Amino acid sequence: MIIPAAGLGTRMSSPASDKAKKGVPSKQFAELGGIPILLRTLRKFAECEEVSEICIALRPGEIPNFRARLESEGKDILRKKVQLVEGGEHRQQSVAKGLAAIGAAEDDVVLVHDAVRPFVSGEIIREVIAGAKKYGAAIAGMPAVDTVKQVERTAEGALIKATIPRERVVMAQTPQGFRYPVLRKAFEEAGNDGFVGTDEASLVERSGHPVAVVMGSPRNMKITTPGDLELAEFYLGK
Ligand code: C5P
Repeated sequence: MIIPAAGLGTRMSSPASDKAKKGVPSKQFAELGGIPILLRTLRKFAECEEVSEICIALRPGEIPNFRARLESEGKDILRKKVQLVEGGEHRQQSVAKGLAAIGAAEDDVVLVHDAVRPFVSGEIIREVIAGAKKYGAAIAGMPAVDTVKQVERTAEGALIKATIPRERVVMAQTPQGFRYPVLRKAFEEAGNDGFVGTDEASLVERSGHPVAVVMGSPRNMKITTPGDLELAEFYLGK
């Protein structure tokens, strides 16, 4: 499996804060209950029997420190085969570098999971793997509870162009799982066409392969802003 963890986490700090001036750690290294988010996320997959190999894409300067931290605090994670690779400029490039580094067989399922979603459950991971085995591609997703609007951005804000019936909308989460050849083909095609997507499913969709959705969870949140971190601390205490 591949964990893109090479983001800068710029939404995590206000530019005016002292922390930002000194350079805060990327959001995946922010601590949640005293443990870096990335370690918490990795642990969820290390606990999963079906997962044999974990490839983590990191910013080059963060690799030595993280390797040391894994060796001291992540012995349970290192029971799996763990590889650290350099990430890229976009999430997609980080995943592509992971994909190039893993030693997957043709009938293996490759999972991709955001470093910043530490509350993923074993059940969701297993459902995505089962979906990927059955359909070739499956992701975790949540039905939309809000009414969804399509907008046009203007200098002053946004203007609504259409309302998308929410029964037809799913909020995509990770893990996203694919048979190895399905993901490899989608990345090759996206690379050739210069297409950049915000998740792996979007690449697989455009390659013409159907992608199934299994039930995610509201807890499987992506920790992006300081407010998310507060909510995450709350979940942790429950
Ligand atoms: O920033 P974004 O919300 O897209 O981040 C989603 C995940 O992708 C995070 O785990 C982040 O670390 C990762 N990412 C990456 N390489 C980048 C940008 C984001 O691995 N260049």
